[in-house]
Amino acid sequence: MAALTKEQLRDKAFEALDHKVRILDAGLRIGEGVVEAAGGGVTTKEGGSFRHGKKQGMFQPGVIDANVRAGQGGGGRVPGHTDGGKGKPGSQADGGTKPGSQAAGHLGSAEPELKGPIPGLDDKLPSMFHIPLGYWMFLRPNPKSDYALEYENGTFYVTKDGNEIWRDITFEARPKFYDGFTSDGKAFLDIGMILTDKCVEVWYSNECAFKERGEDCMFCDINNRGGDIFLKQPHHIAELVKAAFDEGVADRLDFTGGVIAERREIEYYSDSIEAIQDALGRTGLNASACIAAPRDFENIVRLKEAGFSNITINKEIWDENFFNTVCPGKARTVGHKRWIEALEFAAKTFGFGHVRCNFVTGIEPKFKTLEGVEYLAGVGVYGNTNIFGPRPGTPFEGVRSPTPEWNLDMAIKAADIQIRAGLTYALVKNCHPEVHQPIFDVYRIREELLPIFGGGA
Ligand code: SF4
Repeated sequence: MAALTKEQLRDKAFEALDHKVRILDAGLRIGEGVVEAAGGGVTTKEGGSFRHGKKQGMFQPGVIDANVRAGQGGGGRVPGHTDGGKGKPGSQADGGTKPGSQAAGHLGSAEPELKGPIPGLDDKLPSMFHIPLGYWMFLRPNPKSDYALEYENGTFYVTKDGNEIWRDITFEARPKFYDGFTSDGKAFLDIGMILTDKCVEVWYSNECAFKERGEDCMFCDINNRGGDIFLKQPHHIAELVKAAFDEGVADRLDFTGGVIAERREIEYYSDSIEAIQDALGRTGLNASACIAAPRDFENIVRLKEAGFSNITINKEIWDENFFNTVCPGKARTVGHKRWIEALEFAAKTFGFGHVRCNFVTGIEPKFKTLEGVEYLAGVGVYGNTNIFGPRPGTPFEGVRSPTPEWNLDMAIKAADIQIRAGLTYALVKNCHPEVHQPIFDVYRIREELLPIFGGGA
């Protein structure tokens, strides 16, 4: 068979990406063969373990669990003031998962009734898998999905309406340090975990100070998750990062979490990066800090001087009126105009492509978010578009995410705007711990970085 042209490969990649965003939306039915394999302790080739994650507090990394049911995780991520509620908690599995980050997990699903865990499989399925074409995929179970993960004769594959679409599925290996503890007995998995592309993400806290006035961002459920709430000490973080680096499963780090009371973020970050540098015995780390826009911009300079290479200041919503309504804490304490000025200042301080601003997409009109992406790209800020995944217990509970078509169009438009502005994949991937999101897939198609193009990204 003749080799495919670049154009045909690109079409094939976009066709697969279309399936991916639909799976993010609808989840996957778990085939009987997979259930038997997981229940029977099948070991995957990649990691020697079919158990990628286990429940740990609110993060529950890697677990197919109840968080997926509300569409929290389709691929989304972490909560915190960082990511817009995307979602992590819940697990990586949830794709949207973690807590605390502003972005918390917003790769959302239109299936609010998704139920997990699967009887007998809780804690046995890996959180993420790969398709040969080069995409990372979250494993979110939904018995009603048209898509299914199947297992037969030693091979995992994905079907749509019973027809195979991807074969030779591989899984993320479960890092060994996930079973470790800090010197004072805190489970590493309560502090952080590996997201994608060798990035260890640290959740410095799993609550947000905006709750004191009832000013949480409306999409974010960081303060609704319960669990063991504690602000991690710098030595906790340093020990976790060292374990991940020593194991060779991480070479960069990203911090995220809720707004710290009294805005002590800068002091906390400085102490933490210093402890990490001491533990690793070096400076010059690829490290990203996520903060709320500070009133004193000199704090941005202090973070750079402390040793961070990237910074994240999530506005979440571009339009001023939507921002004021949806992010009341951010609007009151900093405000629309000043938040943008902070991003501009950060870009001048950290440099072109070293600043990220997450957007939760699907709350305001698409053209508004794209207006923000375009403006920020012009000053060298990467605008990351996280799919809105309505979370239980938030004012958006019961609302559904945008359609897969809408989400894919957003990812393509946002990526193309930023590529035109000179924000390359090499730059922006260092600003974000989760390069499994569709916007990064578009980047890797445009820059021909997927394995099918001969690339390795
Ligand atoms: S409520 Fe707090 S943690 Fe959640 S997105 Fe807003 S600022 Fe971040």
